[in-house]
Amino acid sequence: MSGGAPPGGSRGGVRFDGVTVAYDGNVVLDSLDLTVEPGEVMALLGPSGSGKTTALRAVAGFVRPVRGRVLIGERDVTGLPPHRRGIGMVVQQYALFPHLRVADNVAFGLRAHKVPRAEIPGRVAEALAMTGMEGFARRHPRELSGGQQQRVAIARALAIRPGVLLLDEPLSALDARLRSDMLAELARLHRELPDVTILYVTHDQVEALTLADRIAVMDAARLRDCGTPQDLYRRPRTPFTASFVGNANLLPVRVGDGSVLFGGAELAVATAGAARGATATLCVRPHLVGLGSGPNELRGTVAEVQWRGSTHRVYVEVAGHRVKADVRELRVTPAPGDEVALHFAAEDAVLLAAGVSGE
Ligand code: ADP
Repeated sequence: MSGGAPPGGSRGGVRFDGVTVAYDGNVVLDSLDLTVEPGEVMALLGPSGSGKTTALRAVAGFVRPVRGRVLIGERDVTGLPPHRRGIGMVVQQYALFPHLRVADNVAFGLRAHKVPRAEIPGRVAEALAMTGMEGFARRHPRELSGGQQQRVAIARALAIRPGVLLLDEPLSALDARLRSDMLAELARLHRELPDVTILYVTHDQVEALTLADRIAVMDAARLRDCGTPQDLYRRPRTPFTASFVGNANLLPVRVGDGSVLFGGAELAVATAGAARGATATLCVRPHLVGLGSGPNELRGTVAEVQWRGSTHRVYVEVAGHRVKADVRELRVTPAPGDEVALHFAAEDAVLLAAGVSGE
């Protein structure tokens, strides 16, 4: 971004410090502690109703926490009105003014931020160029596709040169192909604007895994986990994260000595930190489960086989649980009712705390 500090805004990250939001006494965001580093892309990932949008609205200033503070950079903004926070926001439904041309939609935010009149045309052109929409300045929103409207909404958010960009399910109204193009576009924008801190609300793990430096996993008003995409995928700390970030087999096991017991099978996996005799959950990703004999073998009956193009998803009933294996090369496709063996490498399994949730 060229020149100029953001109006009333500050560069820097975002910090939630014990932020609690309630509607009519009903807590929908519970004591959120989370630090987003300057220039970082943080995805808030979780099921519908988990409090993600509420967290974003607390940063934007559209909702007032009943407890806690929101900081942008070093500044406590908890009591500031939205337009003094130096924030750009993009929501799912574009929210463009239908009666205003593209250029005027983008200029609107600049006027609201009291940018000097003479600067506005240049800033509008700059923002439209950033999103590849410079040729559309004179069109009305109804003359644009959904993807183009969303680009204009992003241009409008960027025009004020925000220190923090809030994106609330920005791609969910687009079809799959456009979504994938826009994901690449957002990644490019972030490379061009490395100082802008981005909070990205989504329920789509692909978006979170693709774009985010770190992912904050939310469930039922609470932060459940936070880490890099690789970290959460390879070393989830909770069954919820394991099932929400990627696909997972979550097997209820009893901890032994350097092994766990599942059904009648003894499986060699790392058990560091887990008490012998305790119940726990073993997480194994379906693509790391092989069909046939091998180490850590499980025997069971095929329940269902789904062809998914590049893989077969084989569901096998083992000791009363349905284990999923995503298999690439199949010489013979198993059929429901077949007795088969499954196996996985010890290093591909992660032992989690007690309790199984998810599928
Ligand atoms: P998410 O973004 O994860 O889908 P939200 O933050 O939008 O979740 O909502 C969290 C909870 O707060 C939901 O149960 C929702 O119904 C409730 N909620 C959101 N906004 C309001 C509101 N203005 N009044 C009352 N309840 C609300």
